[in-house]
Amino acid sequence: MDYEMRAEYADGISPRDPDARFEVWHMTRSGEPVALCGRDLDMAAVTQSADAWGTEAGRPLCHACGALYIHQVR
Ligand SMILES: [Zn+2]
Repeated sequence: MDYEMRAEYADGISPRDPDARFEVWHMTRSGEPVALCGRDLDMAAVTQSADAWGTEAGRPLCHACGALYIHQVR
């Protein structure tokens, strides 16, 4: 199973909005807009490789997703 990181934006803001404010990274299964923690994310949201998990590029990370991800892949 492949994973990727998907950005969550401030409430009510679409990633297409020029003023979109990035909030936190969630971990999802590759190509799915639902985070491991159950949060629905926008398909248009920015994603990055799960390799960024645990690095500066992957912060801030949703705590629930971080814990669930550890249990699924480690
Ligand atoms: Zn999450």
